[in-house]
Amino acid sequence: MSDEGYESRIIDGKALAKKIESEVESGVKALVSGRGVTPGLATVLVGDDPASKMYVRLKHKACERVGIRAEDHFLPAETSQEELISLINTLNKDKNVHGILLQLPLPKHLFPQEAMEAIAPEKDADGFHPYNMGKLMIGDEGLVPCTPHGVIRALEEYNVPIKGKNVVIVGHSNVVGKPMAAMFLNRNATVSVCHVFTDDLKKYTLGADILVVAAGVKHLIKADMVKEGAVIFDVGITQEKDGVYGDVDFENVIKKAALITPVPGGVGPLTIAILMKHVLSCAEINF
Ligand code: NAD
Repeated sequence: MSDEGYESRIIDGKALAKKIESEVESGVKALVSGRGVTPGLATVLVGDDPASKMYVRLKHKACERVGIRAEDHFLPAETSQEELISLINTLNKDKNVHGILLQLPLPKHLFPQEAMEAIAPEKDADGFHPYNMGKLMIGDEGLVPCTPHGVIRALEEYNVPIKGKNVVIVGHSNVVGKPMAAMFLNRNATVSVCHVFTDDLKKYTLGADILVVAAGVKHLIKADMVKEGAVIFDVGITQEKDGVYGDVDFENVIKKAALITPVPGGVGPLTIAILMKHVLSCAEINF
């Protein structure tokens, strides 16, 4: 046990994901037996970016594990915006599809924002639709982005208090940083959001009780940038020939952290498990 009273210094994302997936599996079984509805997820992938293909494959595998029906819509890289929107409209009307996931990034000639807005908000399993984002901003959390949702679930699971804590988020993307900040504000933390133009990043990170790093810069956060006893979530993924790296210099930072997520095996599996939870919620509400 660490000085702060936590049982382990590593947040086991894989184990927590397994727990969430088993909750989803039970929920799916109840929906099938109770209402005769099998939750369905439609994934839409445009082009053949290998990383995107791998992410879609991982999501389909998770669907298989929990009993969600998954269908894969692969569109060639030269697909037009009209063709993409037309597919999304078809999926919006399909009663067997409860959640729709548009895998990002899209090829450069397409407009991701317009495509995401075309997804029916009640089928927005990723939580990126402006309606769901807006609800999140006013504290009415429904379908929220999966990665921030996973971070909050992990904090709950490890009994880490949030109210009144100093939270620092590195990265201000629409996918992670901004919704993460809103979720912490909704729980009455004091939140600082840093980004590539932040002057003196260390000045902020040193004050963090909870630090969430989503910059995509290998080992951006060093041990001298975190305070003793901080709880740290490393969202970043940098794929190199010899392996996958996070945004946190894990080996050295772990010596100071009360709790920390590894890369791989931390935030990644959690994000996918939460996506499964969202598809189930979509099916429970709209069947
Ligand atoms: P993005 O590329 O849209 O944004 C990156 C953010 O980091 C920006 O706000 C930018 O200003 C900031 N940033 C970049 N360099 C910085 C620096 N040197 N100092 C401070 N801030 C800096 O990123 P995103 O889509 O939020 O993804 C971030 C990382 O998280 C990527 O590595 C991505 O692959 C990973 N990711 C992982 C998961 C998961 O499930 N594990 C989910 C989403 C994203």
